Amino acid sequence: MRYWNTLLATYTYEQLATQLQQGNIALLSACITALESQISEHSYPVYSILEKCNPIVTPTKRMGFTGVPGAGKSTFINEFGIFCLEKNPSLKLAILAVDPSSTLSKGSILGDKTRMQELAIHERAFIRPSPTNGTLGGLNKHTAEVIQLCEIAGFEWIWVETVGVGQSETIVKTLTDMFVLLIVPNTGDELQGIKKGIIEMVDILLINKIDSYAAKIINKNVGDYTNALHYNPISAKNFLPKVLTTSAIEITNFETIYTNIEEYFDHIHLNNFYTQNRTQQLQQQIEQTLEMQWIEKLYQLPFFEEQKTNLLSQIQNNPTQIQNLIQQFLSTYFKK
Ligand code: GDP
Repeated sequence: MRYWNTLLATYTYEQLATQLQQGNIALLSACITALESQISEHSYPVYSILEKCNPIVTPTKRMGFTGVPGAGKSTFINEFGIFCLEKNPSLKLAILAVDPSSTLSKGSILGDKTRMQELAIHERAFIRPSPTNGTLGGLNKHTAEVIQLCEIAGFEWIWVETVGVGQSETIVKTLTDMFVLLIVPNTGDELQGIKKGIIEMVDILLINKIDSYAAKIINKNVGDYTNALHYNPISAKNFLPKVLTTSAIEITNFETIYTNIEEYFDHIHLNNFYTQNRTQQLQQQIEQTLEMQWIEKLYQLPFFEEQKTNLLSQIQNNPTQIQNLIQQFLSTYFKK
């Protein structure tokens, strides 16, 4: 945290806010590290900087990419990231790799894959592997704030990469505007492995690695998944999810994928789902922040820790009274 402390000692919050809004990447990284440190002396200055920033007025695109390990998420994100940046000379793309198994998270972005290096050092890309703190699917409680910080720093596209383990999809869904599920072709008769709940969240189902499978198998997969998606309940966004195919290593169908993403965002802007969804996301963030700050305040109360230890021994003697004993314990701190 030495860099962070130097920044705070050298600049005012206003100056740091200006630098952040000008897209200072080193500062953006330092802010994220400070947030993730879980130490309030480090994280509170981030909020003081945010307080001096102007609200974001340009709509951004927040997208979640999920899929089981090995589906090709990192490879696709790298290749497609470069494709999007080359297509839009002014686009700035931030990638939050919160999948603990991700090759992006493991830092092998600086490995031997030239294209990966290309994205990692691209002046308009920001790749941030985030510590998962053991949370399922890798999303951590600061991901929403990290997304906001990236947007303040001028990143219009934010991609969040998570591993498809079930619960993380629901969380990523509450953080993003669009949900992309990457899968590999299924060679069996049945569509396996994807839970119904996940299928219901999908905006684009992307069948990757089509270079390694026969066209007959791919076509059958497209047909089967399209049918499966047609049974999705009609949601407020009123968008028929798409099944698309790609080969991340051969850069296949990237133009089609790009067009579909653009069409999706046009659609949700037109029918107002974008705004509704963002409002919902804010509500969620308020709940989460309230909860976090409330618990923090509770733990700062005088003798709280000691009393809690006493509480444990009381409960150990009387496990069935856990609810009553906790209520009594809290009532010593809070009057009705
Ligand atoms: P992740 O765990 O979902 O992030 O998957 P990775 O991107 O790390 O990819 C897993 C493996 O699949 C790697 O060996 C990739 O080179 C390979 N892979 C990714 N995309 C493709 C593809 O389109 N075709 C083929 N044949 N292999 C791919």
